[in-house]
Amino acid sequence: NADTAMYYTKQHGRNNFHFYQHGMGDRQIQENQLISALHQALRNQEFCLYYQPKFCAPTGAIIGFEALIRWQHPEKGLLSPDSFLPCAEKYGLIIAVGNWVLDEACRQLAQWRSEGATHWSVAVNLSALQLAQPELVAQVLTCLEKYQLPPDVLTLEITETSAINNPQESASRLAQLKARGVKISIDDFGTGYANLLYLKALPASELKIDRAFIKDTDPGSQNTAIVALIIELARSLKLNVVAEGVETKAQKDFFTGLGCDVLQGYLLGKPLPAQSVMPLLQER
Ligand code: C2E
Ligand code: MG
Ligand code: MG
Ligand code: MG
Repeated sequence: NADTAMYYTKQHGRNNFHFYQHGMGDRQIQENQLISALHQALRNQEFCLYYQPKFCAPTGAIIGFEALIRWQHPEKGLLSPDSFLPCAEKYGLIIAVGNWVLDEACRQLAQWRSEGATHWSVAVNLSALQLAQPELVAQVLTCLEKYQLPPDVLTLEITETSAINNPQESASRLAQLKARGVKISIDDFGTGYANLLYLKALPASELKIDRAFIKDTDPGSQNTAIVALIIELARSLKLNVVAEGVETKAQKDFFTGLGCDVLQGYLLGKPLPAQSVMPLLQER
């Protein structure tokens, strides 16, 4: 559990994860090595952010980017989050990693805005453990202040399930941030276990329909009916709707036709390293 993991991390300090106990499984040994390598990656600044554009569905304009972490591993090359974030979350390291992500994404956005992209915003993914931190609100506000960003250019993406362990506290933290202007997005919507009352209680500004519903949206398929319903639900809760994982022209037309506000996906733009982003502003 997360608390034990945090305790464990603090007790054993930074670089002391290469200890083995009799009977310790291969899996545990591998996790210990990964944790140790993640600590080192933080110190050596081996993480970087890729940025995937978000497009206004009706106009096709880029409205901002989602920051997605990558690990430039000295031997293994560029690693995607699925290969290391679950372990970072399990052992509490996601807090340090997440703080870095927030700071770096805000720093980068402030730079782009100073170079003329004044209408761009940035979205940062938050883990369950980050959401469980009482310090979260102050940290986010301090970061915005540090880079002199108006709060409404930052979106925090959470999942339905990430707030489920302490729903009241999470909702109140998010509400405080929303009151200051920060946008809250519910990521991977439709795949978690949240019920609709709980959804109503979350102070969200945006719903991102999970890629799972986007596959197979041929006319008459069940997914089509579900997506139409989600969009209707979002409308009545006054939430913006984002379709993520748009890969084909047919999907793009389908979501635009149903009134989706924002589109994201490989068809329109893959996640890019920071230095490839600014040319997109000039393209338009
Ligand atoms: P997510 O937030 O739902 O992000 C969308 C994922 O789908 C990204 O994978 C993105 O590259 C991928 N994607 C985007 N468009 C398409 C498409 O058209 N087709 C397909 N097949 N995939 C598409 P990525 O970058 O590997 O990230 C995976 C997950 O890792 C993210 O899912 C998010 O939950 C988590 N994550 C990434 N960065 C961070 C971070 O900085 N902090 C935290 N806590 N989680 C992060
Ligand atoms: Mg996301
Ligand atoms: Mg998602
Ligand atoms: Mg996801």
